[in-house]
Order: sequence, then structure tokens, then C-alpha cells
Amino acid sequence: MIIQLENTVQESHKGAIIDKVNELKYKTTEVKTQKGDYIIGIGKSDFDIRDLGQMEGIADIHIVSDDYKLVSAKWKVQATCIDLGDGVKIGRDNFAIMAGPCSIEGEEQIRLTIEHLKANNVKIMRGGVYKPRSSPYSFRGMGVEGLQLWYKAAKEAGIKIITEVMQVSQIAEMYDYIDIYQVGARNTQNFNLLDELGRVDKPVMIKRGISGTIDELLYSAEYVFSAGNEKLLLCERGIRTYEKASRNTLDLNAIPILKEKSHLPVIADPSHGIGIRHHVEPMALASIMAGADGIIYETHQKPEEAFSDGQQTLDFAESSALIDKMRRVEALRSEF
Ligand code: PEP
Ligand code: MN
Repeated sequence: MIIQLENTVQESHKGAIIDKVNELKYKTTEVKTQKGDYIIGIGKSDFDIRDLGQMEGIADIHIVSDDYKLVSAKWKVQATCIDLGDGVKIGRDNFAIMAGPCSIEGEEQIRLTIEHLKANNVKIMRGGVYKPRSSPYSFRGMGVEGLQLWYKAAKEAGIKIITEVMQVSQIAEMYDYIDIYQVGARNTQNFNLLDELGRVDKPVMIKRGISGTIDELLYSAEYVFSAGNEKLLLCERGIRTYEKASRNTLDLNAIPILKEKSHLPVIADPSHGIGIRHHVEPMALASIMAGADGIIYETHQKPEEAFSDGQQTLDFAESSALIDKMRRVEALRSEF
């Protein structure tokens, strides 16, 4: 069960509610987020909801049978909208495009990418400054110095930043320069990192683990929410299957399933999802028709020279064409 407390709840009333829930043989966890206070009850016994509903300090009670609670659509019927400020929103009726290189490589690349995004009226730029690479000898990112250069240029241009955070110590270091923390597929179940991201008040996009189930992604989001941060996005980025013809298998099924199970916005990443440059476009468009609230993909002024993931990266002409098609497909979808 999820008990939403009144904003003005007194400590004594809260204590009485917790005692009552424990009496019903439910274990309780208190959750305090940027938006509200909740008590989560975990248990199985039947009870009469009126016993609780009458108590002082309770705004609402929801019975959520899912094992994840706060991210479930069962209690929050209205879809979540993430507001990045300056009119940039993701979710509910706001379709988001996030584009940029796999890795931030330097000032010139940042400038060219921002010009490209501005020309196409795209408001969110992606890019990694800490790169999880399969080989330790590959380029591992420019670190916080790269992020600072990027921030300066992005801020002047009115562009928001989404970038991957790989470890707890980077959260504070990155905080002033980012708009969305990305949790990468290799860190989806780094529970210490998720807990700490629950203590900040900036949005977090969690990618599905390389071999992670849909439910595991939802549990990861529940970690962040239950630690205090409601500003969450889910990302389908392809999973590892027996198929070798593509880098990963973009699980289009996950998009409507996640949208049904959760109130959180669902983003698709066709670049990592298929890993083949000329197939990124159809997978992006298919993801939109499957219900994605946004698309994140890789673009670079010269994909052949990109420091990482060039094989799945669009050049700017391909990217402009994709943006135009995505907007048309999204308009078509909204007619259904
Ligand atoms: C990325 O976005 O560049 C990235 C490394 O993604 P993932 O964690 O999905 O592999
Ligand atoms: Mn990449």
C-alpha cells in the first residue's frame, strides 16, 4: 500500500499511522520526496481500508499489488511530466528529442553539435564525459573539465544537458552543470548509486540493464523514488539476446509495457538499441509509434571520426532528416 500523507501532517499523527499499519502486519518505510511524504506498507494480510482512511494526517491510500509501488501506474493515474525549466518538458503530452555525440570530445565538436541542434529546434543535448567502455584502452571521456566546457556553451544556447553519471562521487561534481543524470545500462543495478541519486533534486534517466528485465528496470526506478527523487525517466536501450546481426535487440515490446505499468516517461534509444547507423531511423520511428515519450540518439559532425560508437552515429544531415520524420510521426500518433 501507499499512504500519501498530508503536507501538514504532525509527527504524532504520522507515528500513529505507522503503528496502525504495523499492527496490520505490514512493514513500513517512510519516503520523503521533493513533492510529498509517503508511507509504504509491505505485507499481504487483508484489512479494512476504512480503519486507516479515518486517521488524521492521511491524504490518500492506494492498494498497489505490484512489488514496485511508487513508480507503478496503479496509484498515480496521471502520467508524470519532467520539467527541465525554460519551457522544456518531457512526458504527458511533451515529446522529447535528445541528441548528441556518444562522447564529448572538445570545444569544436560541442559548438558544431549545438549549432545543429539549434537549427532543428532540439532543446536537449546528450553526450558522455564519463564513458563506460568494454575495453580499458578505449577513450574514457573528458571528465568534469569536458562537462564544464559543454555547460558554458549549452547554457548560452539555451540547451539542456543529459549525461551519464558512473559513480557516487561524480553526482555532486556534475550537479551544477547538468539537467538530467543518465544511469547507464551497466549501472542499472548499482544500488548505491541509485540510492544517492534519490537524494538529489535533478531528474534521473535510468537505462535498462544489458540483460535486465522490465521489472528490474522498474525496481531500479523504485530505488531512486523511494530514496526521495520522483523526477525519473525510464529508457529502453536494447538488451543482449542470442541475436548477433545487431549490437543489441531494441525491445519495442518494453515501451507499451512500461507505459502501462508505470506513470514515468519512457524514452527509447535506437542508437544503442540496434547499433547500426542506417537502421537507427526506422527503429526511432517505430519506438514513437510504440508510445515512447522521447527518443535519445547519437549524432556527430563526422561519425567516422567519432571517439566512440561511430558505427551507430548519424551525421548531421541524417539527424536533421530524422528529427523532421520523428516530429511527423509523433503528430500522426497523436491523431490516434
Ligand atoms: C551511452 O548512452 O553512450 C551509453 C553508454 O549507453 P548505455 O549505458 O545504454 O550503453
Ligand atoms: Mn554510445
